[in-house]
Order: sequence, then C-alpha cells, then structure tokens
Amino acid sequence: MAEKEVFVLTTNIDMQFERIFQKERICDYQGNSGYVQCSQPCHDQIYSNVEMIRRMNENIRELRVTSELLPRCNECGRIMVPWVRDDTFLEGKDWREGVRRYENFLKKYLMNGTDKNVVLLELGVGEMTPSIIKLPFWEMTYKNEKVFYACLNQKKSSAPEHIKDKGIYIAGDLAETLRDLKENIAGKEM
Ligand SMILES: [Zn+2]
Repeated sequence: MAEKEVFVLTTNIDMQFERIFQKERICDYQGNSGYVQCSQPCHDQIYSNVEMIRRMNENIRELRVTSELLPRCNECGRIMVPWVRDDTFLEGKDWREGVRRYENFLKKYLMNGTDKNVVLLELGVGEMTPSIIKLPFWEMTYKNEKVFYACLNQKKSSAPEHIKDKGIYIAGDLAETLRDLKENIAGKEM
C-alpha cells in the first residue's frame, strides 16, 4: 500500500497503527489508550499519558503505586482515565477531527465520483460493533461501482447476497494470510 492513498478507520485502541501510519491517516473511533481524559469529563481535552505511565511503572512497589502518581484532572481534580470507549468517553474535538478526516477521505474518493478504484479492506472486524465498520462498508460497496470489498477474518464471515460479486472473503489467521499475500506479490514481481 506504500504508494496508495490510504486511510485507517479502527476500533482498536492499542496504538499499533500509528507506528506505521501518520495520525492524519487514522481515525481512532473508540479512542486510544495512549491518552487520558478527565473521568467526568469536565473539559474537552485529551492528554498523552506516556510520561504518566512511565513514572508509575518506575515506581511500582509490591504491585502498587502511591495515589499521588495517579493522573488527576487539572480542572476539577478527579482521576484521569484512559481515553477509550465507555459510558464517559470524551467525543470531543480530537474524536470529531478523526471522524472528519475519515469522512473527507470518503468524500474525496467515493462521493465525488472519481475514476479511482477503492478497496475497502476489512481486517479482523468482530461482531460487537458492526455499525462502525462492517455495515457501512457493505453499504458503500453496494452503492459504489468502483468499490471492492475484501473481508479478512479468523472465522468464516457471512457474505451478504447483495454484494456477493463485489467482494472476497478469506478466513484464517490474519498474520498468515498477509504473509502469504506478500510472498505471492513478491513472487510475481521477480
Ligand atoms: Zn475534570
């Protein structure tokens, strides 16, 4: 994908995509465990927690840290919690920016009807929140002539009837599938 226009929409919170892709190319829909927010939340700001975690990690005694090392909100003094989806998740400016980046990408390649082909590559999406990735992907595949849908999952996925000619479904371990694919492409280039 190196030379392709790419955007990552993810429900993972584990910071792995940002090791490869620029932030401008990612939407962390369910948050990102590299940040904390006020637990109320009382204000619209997320904070990188790298230093906080490092300090706590260095000061663990008998599996505990002292309470003054726990991050607290500058505004209201309450405890800070990881910026990940739960009932107090902060859908503030950073979250909205991520969603807007994703929508702009879609607008650019789908809604304006460019001549570019688009692959919607769905990697290991589970069944917990189909409304974020899976169902919109099905709909975009159905509505757009230029879209092709590739669903890679550990388990066998259901292939919806209305897009059955516009998709491919590969069951198996993602690491193995991608490795095979890479070898296959490399083999063709030689
Ligand atoms: Zn607060």
